Amino acid sequence: MSNNVTIDANGFFGEYGGQYVPEQLLPILNELSATFEKYKDDPDFIQEFQYYLTKYSGRPTPLYLCSNLTEELGGAKIYLKREDLNHLGAHKVNNTIGQILLAKRMGKKKIIAETGAGQHGVATAATAALMGMKCTVYMGEVDVERQKLNVFRMRMMGAEVVAAKSGQKTLKEAVDEALAAWVQEADDTFYLLGSAVGPHPYPIMVRTFQSVIGKEAKEQCLEDEGRLPDFCIACVGGGSNAIGLFSDFVDDKEVKLVGVEPSGRSLKDGDHAATLCLGEPGIMHGFNSYMLKDNNGDPAPVYSISAGLDYPSVGPEHSHLKDLGRAEYVHASDKEATDAFFKLSQTEGIIPALESSHALAYAMKLAPTLDKEKIIVVNLSGRGDKDVGQIEEMISRGELKLP
Ligand SMILES: *Cc1c(COP(=O)(O)O)cnc(C)c1O
Repeated sequence: MSNNVTIDANGFFGEYGGQYVPEQLLPILNELSATFEKYKDDPDFIQEFQYYLTKYSGRPTPLYLCSNLTEELGGAKIYLKREDLNHLGAHKVNNTIGQILLAKRMGKKKIIAETGAGQHGVATAATAALMGMKCTVYMGEVDVERQKLNVFRMRMMGAEVVAAKSGQKTLKEAVDEALAAWVQEADDTFYLLGSAVGPHPYPIMVRTFQSVIGKEAKEQCLEDEGRLPDFCIACVGGGSNAIGLFSDFVDDKEVKLVGVEPSGRSLKDGDHAATLCLGEPGIMHGFNSYMLKDNNGDPAPVYSISAGLDYPSVGPEHSHLKDLGRAEYVHASDKEATDAFFKLSQTEGIIPALESSHALAYAMKLAPTLDKEKIIVVNLSGRGDKDVGQIEEMISRGELKLP
């Protein structure tokens, strides 16, 4: 599992990343980093990782040509990388399998994690059950309410769910509380981080485990089309599904990489979570990256219709790719995302996650402006079953109309 974007010994992508953490955490992170370096190219580790990806999660996921949607839009071909078909319905499990296999090799008995939409919590609870480890998941109280079914799924698989009640009561607070708990019990506990964020080595580790998405997509596109795609498009919350798709294409300069952030209700402060588009560099949760700041320089309140995207920072590698001009970051609103949600459901019979709908929304805007020979690969990071209840409530409150 070798990587192709340079990172320095201290875990910096250019000026982004690093380890801005309390001193007690440094030895713990360094132990993790050494373990990751030791196993990432180890044949036995890779074989075990591949085993679970294949037999447990059902990989490889297909690359699917949306013929109906492509015809209706009348431009570039739109392919979906079907991460929604993974076990548990999203790309998250690629990463939880990888990290839990490291935890096993480190002899850890307990897993702690944080979760926003609940998808990472569910994937963590599942893989902890699989490996017979105890699992505690921290989740903002607001998200516990928004994603009741996911909370129940975690409990069914034996995890304990702790509601974070400070601040905005969303993902950021869940991360704060989970990190505080980790410092207390790091000897026997592994912190399983859900996105390509956090202090080194998490961003590089999560990218490595998620890079299976881009590797498969590249092979599949070469097989189906005989060439590379013109665009790779993915939604960006913390940035793990996007970096997983992008990493194998970074050196292929002819492939345009586009990350789509949520612009929520509007571009006003507090109405969105478009960190790379509207933020500035700063340090939060142990790493340097673009972030959305309030007037005091603290993490700003953020909002998106999708609980998996409302995070005021972003993976450091994306900040680096943005500054290099290698990837472009754009945004899609709640409205554009829900339009895309219905459009894919009705043209292809695939209900996308609201997160993924942001990437789709941009692809649907772009496709008609391109020639028919052009190829767009959209990462369909997850399925929308978890969002159906939320959409149904919005329709019954009159906030949305079923087209
Ligand atoms: C969690 C999640 C995301 C956002 O996380 P990234 O780390 O940015 O990928 C996107 N889509 C789905 C379906 C998710 O569950």
